[in-house]
Amino acid sequence: MTANLLDFDLGGLAAFCERLGEKRFRAVQLFRWIHQKGASRFEDMTDLARSLREKLPGVCEIRGLPVLSQQESSDGTIKWLFDVGGGNAVEAVFIPEDDRGTLCISSQAGCAVGCRFCSTGHQGFSRNLTSGEIVAQLWFAEHFLRERFKTTERVISNVVMMGMGEPLQNYAALVPALRVMLDDHGYGLSRRRLTVSTSGVVPLMDRLSEDCPTALAVSLHAPNDALRDHLVPLNRKYPLAELMAACLRYLPAAPRDFITFEYCMLDGVNDQPEHAQQLLDLIRGRSPAYQGPAVPCKLNLIPFNPFPDSGLKCSPRAAVTAFAEVLNRAGVVTTVRKTRGDDIAAACGQLAGDVLDRTNAAERMARRRVVPVRVVASSGEA
Ligand code: SAH
Ligand code: SF4
Repeated sequence: MTANLLDFDLGGLAAFCERLGEKRFRAVQLFRWIHQKGASRFEDMTDLARSLREKLPGVCEIRGLPVLSQQESSDGTIKWLFDVGGGNAVEAVFIPEDDRGTLCISSQAGCAVGCRFCSTGHQGFSRNLTSGEIVAQLWFAEHFLRERFKTTERVISNVVMMGMGEPLQNYAALVPALRVMLDDHGYGLSRRRLTVSTSGVVPLMDRLSEDCPTALAVSLHAPNDALRDHLVPLNRKYPLAELMAACLRYLPAAPRDFITFEYCMLDGVNDQPEHAQQLLDLIRGRSPAYQGPAVPCKLNLIPFNPFPDSGLKCSPRAAVTAFAEVLNRAGVVTTVRKTRGDDIAAACGQLAGDVLDRTNAAERMARRRVVPVRVVASSGEA
């Protein structure tokens, strides 16, 4: 297969052009045509030397992802299902707000982490996306939306790696994709407006802070190791003490001076007053799970979005409010995430795509006892 130019960050494209005997500024021109203008055909790139325009089609292409479906919510949210071949499909979601446009992007077909409350996790893992497949979601959405809104201005101001997959478990493809998003010749996103969300792959959090620091969201979901082992199985490998220490190490290079902790509110599982208190102790470094400096953070409570066979329920509104109040009163800025696009199953954790499970995780999940998790919750380190 010929090279896909969506796979390259600017450095990679310059190296590719050099191999063709072309100067770096040609790579910049090409990069801008692709990402800033949304061009997919070399013949449209009118200011490229004719010789180059004629040379390129033989050696490379700009290969986007076929769109299998597009759904629009009554609140303006748009969800696309992209075909990534081999019977796999991934999703991306555009969430318009007054002051910004956010695109939520997938990094893998499926996910190997297997969190209890996540529809992607229940499906198992098929494969990593390439850098080009990650970028293609933004490339398509941005230029589709510009056409839709009849504008040449940028529509997507924020990108969150919160779709399907664990981005840090696809690190090699993730970093070039992030660079394309950040590049002034590409999408020119600010580092503060590009968020990588992770379930806590500790060594790669360290590498990200060196290679390409972006805003970081860490999916916490539990205030003690016993409960987190159960909800986010990766915790058995990187328990809370290591995770909190990695958060602290990330911050000096990060574009923001806090970590965003995500916490999915599950009825009777992790939403009780004692969990709020344990969470507070954890953040302050005064919990049995982690003792050390307090971690500067904001907390984002996500009401659980149900999906078939999860065996879990969303916390009642009052429990969410009470939980948030404990944290807010203690000075931890805590917000409750608004659910967007739930009429098209575009909310957090509902992105199921269509993944051929290569690990039989779905079957394993079904065999494992899902409820009652309450028992585990009370065996925590209170
Ligand atoms: N794998 C990464 C990013 C993708 S998930 C991670 O786990 O951080 C993005 C966010 O959605 C995570 O915080 C995840 O825990 C949350 N999430 C997953 N399933 C959910 C569900 N059913 N309801 C609400 N939030 C969910
Ligand atoms: Fe994977 Fe994130 Fe879902 Fe966990 S929540 S299974 S890490 S996508």
